Amino acid sequence: MITWVAIGSEILSGRTVDQNLKQLALALGLPVSRGFIVSDNYDEIARTFSCVAGDPVVICSGGLGPTSDDITISAFSKWSCLGLEFKEELYARFNSLDENLSSLEGCKKQCYIPKGFNFIVNAKGTAPLIWGDFKLTRWFFLPGVPHEFRSFVESSEFLNLMVEKTSRKRVYQRDISVYFMKEAEVYDVVKDITQHFSDEVGFYPEKGYVDIVLRSEDEALIDNRVRILADRLTSEGIRFHIKEIPLELEVHNEIKRSGLTVSTVESFTGGALAQALMAYPGSSKYFKGGLVVYSVDAKKNLLGGKSVVNPVSEEVCEALAKQGRLFFKSDICVSTTGVAGPGKDEWENEEGLFFIAVAFNNDVRVWKRVIKTSRDLLIRQGVFAGLFGVLDCLKG
Ligand code: ATP
Ligand code: MG
Repeated sequence: MITWVAIGSEILSGRTVDQNLKQLALALGLPVSRGFIVSDNYDEIARTFSCVAGDPVVICSGGLGPTSDDITISAFSKWSCLGLEFKEELYARFNSLDENLSSLEGCKKQCYIPKGFNFIVNAKGTAPLIWGDFKLTRWFFLPGVPHEFRSFVESSEFLNLMVEKTSRKRVYQRDISVYFMKEAEVYDVVKDITQHFSDEVGFYPEKGYVDIVLRSEDEALIDNRVRILADRLTSEGIRFHIKEIPLELEVHNEIKRSGLTVSTVESFTGGALAQALMAYPGSSKYFKGGLVVYSVDAKKNLLGGKSVVNPVSEEVCEALAKQGRLFFKSDICVSTTGVAGPGKDEWENEEGLFFIAVAFNNDVRVWKRVIKTSRDLLIRQGVFAGLFGVLDCLKG
């Protein structure tokens, strides 16, 4: 059993979202059974320590810094009556990093740890990881700064110290993101499979897709289940992505591998697809450019003055993709047109209707969808549809 204690008034005030629990639970796949968020206040911290004392492993983050609002270690030493001891090695390290820094009062403060406890130096900052056993519990105190916290939780030294005290094994997790469907629809397609997975499966609606999350201590079992679910989704013609990496990164990798070039002509997605296609370094190798033809006039101009009967139609979307491909001299061009709302457009096209066209070689494929959702989520759906369109081209 692992217990989580995030210390910081800024988390309770809503200024900061607790990212460290996420990093601990997801990156490491360790089961956290309960968690607390505590303000930077001596009494509240002491009350929390009394509550969790006796749990096998307690991991606390935050409040190890040099300022007066960082009180985690002094609160622990008071509560435990262990007192503090000065660690010369930590002070020597400060000195070697920066002599001016080490003379500051705040830095000296960071060299005190509870008596009998141990520390691991911080490669990314000044506050060390402090750990020790007290009252049947193995206590860990980690710096709150997310990238410093992360470098500790990813170290094998930390993992070994923790696993020593818990009987639980590491839990593996796989996410399958399912697109263009509502949670209930996704569930309906896979429920005969997932109902045998007991509590090892969860459905989570995210921004523009639904994640099916599988967890298990058995990595082979979980991979097998991912395969079974993927086969089902494929056989139903459903768009999904096994989220080892973000969809945008997968598209980036695939285009780079193909050696082809890409461009965009966007209407309702307003440049968001272009942004997704150039999000990773190295995109200049394949991304030729993007046009935003939001108004009917802009579409008309790009199409050489041809009249546009209905701007949100298969014909126009197809023509935009073809024309964009010529304009940019790219191998592939993706176009988008749709009604982001609110309400119908002048041509009586319903809100949520959109088309995506992908021109590749002398061929153009067009997808039509109607998704009732908010304006920002519809734009995201358009981006996802465009990215899947590119993937389809690349995979033949
Ligand atoms: P420092 O040495 O920087 O003072 P610290 O261990 O004392 O580190 P805090 O002062 O509590 O940590 O927080 C440092 C920064 O990290 C703050 O910007 C804070 O909002 C952020 N932070 C702290 N805890 C978390 C958390 N659980 N999730 C995300 N951010 C956090
Ligand atoms: Mg703090």
